[in-house]
Amino acid sequence: YALYRAKREHRGSAVVFSARYEAEMRDVSRVKQVLRDSDLEAELYLLFQPQYDIMRNRPVAFEALARWQSAVLGPVTPDVFIVAAERSGLIERVSEILLRKALAAAAVWPQEIGLSFNLSAVDLVSTSAIARLCTIVGESGVAPGRVTFELTETAMMSDFEKARASMEMLASLGCRIALDDFGSGYSSFGYIHRFPLHKIKTDRNFVVRLGEDKAVGFGILRAIIELCANLGVECIVEGVETANEVDTVRAAGARYIQGYHFGRPMTAVAAGDYLDAEMAGEDLKAS
Ligand code: C2E
Ligand code: MG
Ligand code: MG
Ligand code: MG
Repeated sequence: YALYRAKREHRGSAVVFSARYEAEMRDVSRVKQVLRDSDLEAELYLLFQPQYDIMRNRPVAFEALARWQSAVLGPVTPDVFIVAAERSGLIERVSEILLRKALAAAAVWPQEIGLSFNLSAVDLVSTSAIARLCTIVGESGVAPGRVTFELTETAMMSDFEKARASMEMLASLGCRIALDDFGSGYSSFGYIHRFPLHKIKTDRNFVVRLGEDKAVGFGILRAIIELCANLGVECIVEGVETANEVDTVRAAGARYIQGYHFGRPMTAVAAGDYLDAEMAGEDLKAS
């Protein structure tokens, strides 16, 4: 995975690539070691980023984004520590801690506000891990219908049958399933109908593309949004940073948007304030 990521970030530069790759491998093994010795319950926390409905002008959910404030390493980005946790057998514990914390935050939001939670590929192929996550949702007091699990295509394809069984287990509890970062890999609509999928989140690179090659980027985005509509799958456009980008993706047919323009990842307390402000806006609109 690190190899894949290094490749993506440094396309076409073999020298940078190998140096970077070695550095990453060193990082991951150090991080694995520290993870094992840390009080993860105390050091892991979540930030929450709003998902916005531009038709009704209000937030509809927050995505929970993991953060690790290590006593030894300082802040470690999720791209690094999730991989380290996967490779050290700690991911199930990490996912459980994070899901409990995410649900505790969601429990105080209005009922109509959803929670989106990222699952790792390793969680997805473990029946026992998924069963425990289902139990945690069941015990949380948060209605399962408010909870969406985000999965990447790589995770879904790593073991097709197990992934499908896990997704069906989550869906039968009433939870929703989102395909995350659609368009970053070998995205294909050919297999989507074989999974119980409720939402597709487009990769940020489509919005970046709007700035580079507007006509092509716009056309692709519009086609994806239309295909989602035809499949009965909700589409969330990720990575929208400016008002200009909002206008463009709206013109492409987008309704649900997540990105810095509507809010950066924020603490649970800030998310509560954000909702208060948005709900106050609702009251004004209604009166
Ligand atoms: P993701 O699930 O695709 O999350 C979206 C990432 O894009 C987040 O980075 C978010 O901060 C960033 N982002 C959102 N809006 C914008 C924008 O407008 N512009 C830009 N430039 N970036 C934006 P973050 O928080 O660093 O998370 C990175 C990845 O780490 C996530 O990608 C997800 O794959 C993984 N991750 C995060 N939390 C968890 C978790 O609890 N469990 C697991 N298994 N993976 C997680
Ligand atoms: Mg996500
Ligand atoms: Mg994403
Ligand atoms: Mg991502």
